Amino acid sequence: MTGPLGRVLVCGLGVSGAAAARVLLARGDTVLLADAGTPAVRAELEAAGAVWLGAVVDCPEDVDLVVTSPGWRPDSPLLVSAARAGVEVVGEPELAWRLRRPLADGQPAPWYAVTGTNGKTTTVTMLEALLLAGGRRAVAAGNVGRPLVEVVTAVDDDGVAAFDAVAVELSSFQLHWSSSLAPAAAAVLNVADDHVDWHGSPQAYREAKAKVLERAPVAVADAGDPVAASLVAAHHHPVTVTLDEPAPGQLGVRAGVLVDRAFAAEEALLAVTELQVAGPHNVVNALVAAALARVAGVCAADIAAGLAGFRGGAHRNVLVGTVDGVDYVDDSKATNPHAAGASLAAYPRVVWIAGGLLKGADVDPLVAAVAPRLAGVVLLGRDREVLAGSLARHAPAVPRIVVPSGDDVGVAGATSGTAEAVMVQVVRAAADLARPGDTVLLAPAAASMDVFTDYGHRGRAFTDAVHALH
Ligand code: ADP
Repeated sequence: MTGPLGRVLVCGLGVSGAAAARVLLARGDTVLLADAGTPAVRAELEAAGAVWLGAVVDCPEDVDLVVTSPGWRPDSPLLVSAARAGVEVVGEPELAWRLRRPLADGQPAPWYAVTGTNGKTTTVTMLEALLLAGGRRAVAAGNVGRPLVEVVTAVDDDGVAAFDAVAVELSSFQLHWSSSLAPAAAAVLNVADDHVDWHGSPQAYREAKAKVLERAPVAVADAGDPVAASLVAAHHHPVTVTLDEPAPGQLGVRAGVLVDRAFAAEEALLAVTELQVAGPHNVVNALVAAALARVAGVCAADIAAGLAGFRGGAHRNVLVGTVDGVDYVDDSKATNPHAAGASLAAYPRVVWIAGGLLKGADVDPLVAAVAPRLAGVVLLGRDREVLAGSLARHAPAVPRIVVPSGDDVGVAGATSGTAEAVMVQVVRAAADLARPGDTVLLAPAAASMDVFTDYGHRGRAFTDAVHALH
């Protein structure tokens, strides 16, 4: 779209909101800014001509479009007021879709989209690696960090779109506020109940995830996830991935080799042992990334090279050290039970470090499923007693140590070093429970903000505490 959008109200000035405002101002649109806090970018955007409205709750009458941040709930007064006034509300990905700049052939770069409860960032960054290995000018954008609106409006010296393939991570929040995205292929990795408070119901959360497939010519899912598989089953071109031998139309694993039977009669990609990322869940992620890369035309050899070179993201199943024959693995990003379950399945005998903010999630199914592989458990964080209760019911014989923390530490403590002190205690307790050959795994199944500033802070504290064991 090259014409003016008119008067655009940008709600929430986080990374994507600020990027949206910048791009709109550069196009000459009138930009109004709403944010309850005091964002650092306010002065910069005002200097560029934006109008600051602050913590406004009524949508001004003359607004043509509202661009909202993923953090804003649909029942926020300002968004309700916009809907009542008949003003269209979109998220930053939808805005980006409408503002895509064309390549030399006049067409904008295709998007390859990934959503799911867990594994999005890993899969999207893998996909970026595969596209780059295939010689594309690719970039990972969206929920992964880099705003889409910035990527799709970037141009080279000739005014041609700077990227020719976009690996797009979309959250359920972003999909809720999208209406016309038509990626060249889209994947739903898995759907476990999450963010139900934001969406209103598990059904609404599922429907938001399913939106990614609506206009995609190819729909990809993990056959091992019943909800994701059912979403693509209704699609006219479903492709599923499996950890078992693939049927025609699937990518899977045969005799330890990743095999494509969806885009070729049968083609080997690479051996599972060549993947640098641990766990069955990462084999699934690799197969999904490979399926999307296939749609983009990347050949098997380039997919193999891209996957073999992929190292994984920070705080996602990272081996941070081996002490006295015990591996210490940081999967601080396992912030819900579904993610922690996938992580625990990657190691045979685990001393599990868990706890934090469970956000109301039911941990009983997870604890019951992982009980046989637990050598011990160390619990921390505000909801540690919820986990302790579940362990007492489903794994009573497993030794557990509870480290007081969470309600008594708080975010203030996180900056004063108390959070680090908690983690030192936690790691020492785990070391006491572990014996050579075990894995001490930080996969908390919970959010971190009761003790730490975020999952990165939690993972760094863990890494430091492990290094201090030597
Ligand atoms: P997201 O971007 O969806 O949060 P990440 O790729 O950052 O996903 O991974 C978050 C965590 O989820 C990982 O640290 C791991 O514990 C778990 N995980 C990754 N991939 C999967 C998967 N395919 N299925 C289940 N859990 C996964």
